[in-house]
Amino acid sequence: MTSHGTHVLVLNSGSSSLKYQLLDMRDSSRLAVGLVERIGENTSRLVHTPRPGGAEGDGGDGGGKRERTGPIADHTAALEAVSAELARDGLGLDSPELAAIGHRVVHGGLKFSAPALVDDAVLAEIERLVPVAPLHNPANLTGIRTAQRLRPDLPQVAVFDTAFHTTMPEHAARYAIDVATADAHRIRRYGFHGTSHAYVSRKTAELLGKDPSEVNVIVLHLGNGASASAIAGGRCVDTSMGLTPLEGLVMGTRSGDIDPAVTFHLKRVAGMSVDEIDELLNKRSGLVGLCGDNDMREIRRRVDEGDERARLAFDIYVHRLKKYIGAYSAVLGRVDAVAFTAGVGENAAPVREAAVAGLENLGLAVDAGLNAVRSDKPRVVSPQGARVTVAVVPTDEELEIAQQTFALVDEGRTAIA
Ligand code: AMP
Repeated sequence: MTSHGTHVLVLNSGSSSLKYQLLDMRDSSRLAVGLVERIGENTSRLVHTPRPGGAEGDGGDGGGKRERTGPIADHTAALEAVSAELARDGLGLDSPELAAIGHRVVHGGLKFSAPALVDDAVLAEIERLVPVAPLHNPANLTGIRTAQRLRPDLPQVAVFDTAFHTTMPEHAARYAIDVATADAHRIRRYGFHGTSHAYVSRKTAELLGKDPSEVNVIVLHLGNGASASAIAGGRCVDTSMGLTPLEGLVMGTRSGDIDPAVTFHLKRVAGMSVDEIDELLNKRSGLVGLCGDNDMREIRRRVDEGDERARLAFDIYVHRLKKYIGAYSAVLGRVDAVAFTAGVGENAAPVREAAVAGLENLGLAVDAGLNAVRSDKPRVVSPQGARVTVAVVPTDEELEIAQQTFALVDEGRTAIA
């Protein structure tokens, strides 16, 4: 049965969490946002906000926020609880207005260069990719299967974090290791945060008053996870995350680029197991490993108080960022814009200032006054007439997932009509 609704529910399932947003695609407004955390524990918590303030930004602080704590056994129970909350606002999963559910799926490998309408073959492929995304894909699959059980008739769409990066040329995507070994185990650079890089690069072109096909952009997605990408004429040509989200920039808790021999050393000399090294590099490295904090607000506060460890962590973070800006300027040849996005990129003016400091030869600079402005709108922070536009462009992964989902379902309707 094909629905004629205009609502899209976006689900982002983690191993013990479920984040959701319900959007009305007529005006991209949020009808509800929320999350369930600590699924499977006795202290699970559901926070639900109907009609979060305004249509822009991810809101979450609107008037009628509702919260409940208590055991939520699994993802099925979590989604049922979410549906019950939505139903209180007349927007439950059985609402005829609901056109589709869009699922964030972290790893789509090479097969998925676009969103996919979920069927058995799509589910099997996501499952096949579990070895390269052992933390994320199983949780994403659980989310999809749960939603299918609750609304078997509704189109479910998988939107992949890797899809936008499938345009990377082989010379950027391949590691320089034995080809047969790499191919046997599907080892290559996939990249992540693709929905954000796609959305932000398009918005940046819009800010410049140009079509995405006309501009070359470096997008710096700096959240707790962080990645950079080089986008030429709307297509990704390189990105900093690789086989997994561990490669690239210094992140909140991940090391980013590291000599792979460090891992052999930790095993052979420090006697650590592979799982311990995995945990060290993913959870206890990056900013938190360097200074004990991964929140940039706290790090800046400590820097301002003269804390040396925080200063060094900040400097290492910025140094890596600068290297990627330089590298991607070289990859692109001509850069029209550098766009900062996500929690740190959108909010931390000192990071933006430090990242482009000394890069005047590349045409990069920020205007101190513009850089200090706080806003949730896309904005230029480089001086007037600068060769390269430096911009702050808030990301909106849920909107991008909802739009891609709706476009696919709408295409189906048109084809059927
Ligand atoms: P995200 O993963 O995009 O939600 O980003 C989360 C990170 O953004 C946090 O860990 C902080 O480091 C950073 N962040 C959020 N708000 C601010 C702020 N006002 N100033 C500096 N950093 C911030």
